[in-house]
Amino acid sequence: MVDVNLVLRSTRVVTPEGTRPAAVAVSGGTIAGVWPYEAGVPAGARLEDVGDDVVLPGLVDSHVHVNDPGRTEWEGFWTATRAAAAGGITTIVDMPLNSLPPTTTVENLRVKQDVARSKAHVDVGFWGGALPDNVKDLRPLHDAGVHGFKCFLSPSGVDEFPELDQEQLASSLAEIAGFDGLMIVHAEDPHHLAAAPQKSSTAYADFLASRPRDAENTAIQNLIDQARRLGARVHVLHLSSSDALEPIAAAKAEGVKITVESCPHFLTLTAEEIPDGATEFKCCPPIREAANQDALWQGLADGVIDCVVSDHSPSTADLKTPDFSSAWGGISSLQLGLPAIWTEARRRGHGLEDVARWMSAGPARLAGLDRKGGIEAGKDADFAVIDPEATFTVDPAGLQHRNRITAYAGKTLHGVVKATWLRGEKINDGGTLTDPSGLLLERNN
Ligand SMILES: [Zn+2]
Repeated sequence: MVDVNLVLRSTRVVTPEGTRPAAVAVSGGTIAGVWPYEAGVPAGARLEDVGDDVVLPGLVDSHVHVNDPGRTEWEGFWTATRAAAAGGITTIVDMPLNSLPPTTTVENLRVKQDVARSKAHVDVGFWGGALPDNVKDLRPLHDAGVHGFKCFLSPSGVDEFPELDQEQLASSLAEIAGFDGLMIVHAEDPHHLAAAPQKSSTAYADFLASRPRDAENTAIQNLIDQARRLGARVHVLHLSSSDALEPIAAAKAEGVKITVESCPHFLTLTAEEIPDGATEFKCCPPIREAANQDALWQGLADGVIDCVVSDHSPSTADLKTPDFSSAWGGISSLQLGLPAIWTEARRRGHGLEDVARWMSAGPARLAGLDRKGGIEAGKDADFAVIDPEATFTVDPAGLQHRNRITAYAGKTLHGVVKATWLRGEKINDGGTLTDPSGLLLERNN
């Protein structure tokens, strides 16, 4: 019998088998068991009874641009991980670009880990980057514990992270398939982007026309073909075009090793509501029409979309100029992903079990984090305690992000995060955050 030091009790605990009254027993940071609600508290253990508040598995956000070191005026490990803790997220996986250096060699990975170590309020993992000239670095990065590799197929927005053409993609995929690694892909086809009308404009409609669905659809079809041919594991980042759901579903059914994520902004915001000049809504691929959003929710309901993650990609305010063509592309939402998605999910008849699957279990599986993503014996005692019925209005002043520009300002959302627990310790108590206690993670598989 293990030594249980904490029992977390609620009438609503979200487990992989459903939501039920339960007492979650914790031993040394690990979940020892999910006991009946009525189970006694062992001698020496502390009871934390959260009443009717819901206990969710801590969220895993596998798509965060921390930008540290190098562009820390945009974001940093201190502020990003505080925002995560405040938002019920217990693990983030950092994207390899926008920091200087980018995570494209083992040496650069070590630089980033050294910067993150003392600042991590939640657990932090790292994606590597696949560039045209770093195929030789991919296996060493894999051996060093990165969760997979990100590549672009069209310009990334920063010069130090160039995109791959189809031939370079094939070379990188072949190398990665050799050690059963994972390639995660920003899938927009450069030829379709070049053919679309590109002009300086404050009108959202002009921006939307400049990033057509066809660019996504074509890039994803090419990726499916390459993954099939090379037997490689691939993941489509930030899916916006719902047209691609059908080919992705067909590829999955056929046995192609492909997964896909979407993001809170695609699932809760629509092109129709974006005011001209409001470049806090700019991201690539773009937020599309309401009908597209309905189809993405169908993709979630059908299980075609595997996870929902933030793609938190902030910048300083001066880069969010009113001209959509030149403004920095990236939406800042790390702290708000859970309430944003829950608000829309409940409206569409989904439960918190679904949210836990999309925002915790799914991203944990993607990143190969076996100890994360569920309330069950043997996993880390990571929890988000929320009042799902309570609402709040987003006030940027209440955000922990370094830059508080957000597309969600003024929105009233359901789901107030009351507490966040990381490996059995409360790191967020009603918005009061503790000192950093996050670990740097490495891929388990
Ligand atoms: Zn991104």
